[in-house]
Amino acid sequence: MKTLVWVEHDNSKMMDATLATVTAASQLGEVHLLVAGSGCGGVGEQAAKIAGVGKVHVADHATYEHALAENVAPLIVDLMGHHDAVLFPATTNGKNIAPRVAAQLDVMQISDILSVEGEKSFTRPIYAGNAIATVESSDPKLVITVRGTAFDKAETEGGSATIEDVSGPGDAGVSSFVSEEIAASERPELTSAKVIVSGGRALKDGATFEQIIMPLADKLGAGVGASRAAVDAGYVPNDYQVGQTGKIVAPEVYIAIGISGAIQHLAGMKDSKTIIAINKDEDAPIFQVADVGLVADLFKAVPELTEKL
Ligand code: FAD
Repeated sequence: MKTLVWVEHDNSKMMDATLATVTAASQLGEVHLLVAGSGCGGVGEQAAKIAGVGKVHVADHATYEHALAENVAPLIVDLMGHHDAVLFPATTNGKNIAPRVAAQLDVMQISDILSVEGEKSFTRPIYAGNAIATVESSDPKLVITVRGTAFDKAETEGGSATIEDVSGPGDAGVSSFVSEEIAASERPELTSAKVIVSGGRALKDGATFEQIIMPLADKLGAGVGASRAAVDAGYVPNDYQVGQTGKIVAPEVYIAIGISGAIQHLAGMKDSKTIIAINKDEDAPIFQVADVGLVADLFKAVPELTEKL
């Protein structure tokens, strides 16, 4: 089977989520990559070094600068003439482009796969991760999104893929890029952080969140996450949200502070290697998934912990 992986990047460097997608693709067959962007030749060269990749298609054109799904999807549909499956990381951009490709190919999309069971058979979470479904496709072409935390990352060195320039149908003329606001942060990005300190509604407001959570995160070199309740209350921006409708993370250590452990939150972090919970309610559901639990008032325990570190 010939697979195509859409490479997520910012025109200068590749995003980590791509590497897990490459691993998933390699379990299906031959792996080709698509780097679509503007001035993205360097990303093409990085991609060609990924172990196990046979070919990198580079579509370098202003049309693809911001990965607008309306422009990228027709390019992928063209390439699907000689590929059997296309895989995307299940990131915001991947999840934006994949359904358009599936619709244009008139096939179903297989979302958020956790494992490859056979050529056309996969597992994927349902009911916010409370059950795992095994699904089998009978479509001639596969369109798949891949949960990054479920697959090991492919090695970024050791490959020597050929690079081939491609061009697509160009600007679909139905969308245009206006602007973007990117929160600048020195802290590691949530989906690649090894340690995450996450705060919940109990933090009271943005100022206390900053005062309690950030010093601990800084001591640990950790990424900062939050529950949806904390995000909805405006303590921190949306992109901090961990959970079913936020980011899916699986760091080495996840520290949940003042988070009850609703299933929608657990859906985003329960695969973390070690879960530490601090909550004043000993019956809080978070303790059912925690490896280490501390029943305490966070306003006392967290500054003490930060101090001792
Ligand atoms: P609460 O449930 O209010 O918990 C606060 C916790 O803090 C309590 O356990 C309490 O004991 C503890 N606490 C209070 N004071 C202290 C203190 N001084 N010291 C120590 N502990 C203290 N939620 C997500 O997080 N992510 C999602 O992606 C998400 N998606 C959702 C999607 C849908 C469709 C729906 C319906 C809900 C979703 N939710 C999501 C919301 C989810 O159901 C919960 O409402 C939310 O996770 C609760 O956030 P919380 O744990 O911060 O708040």
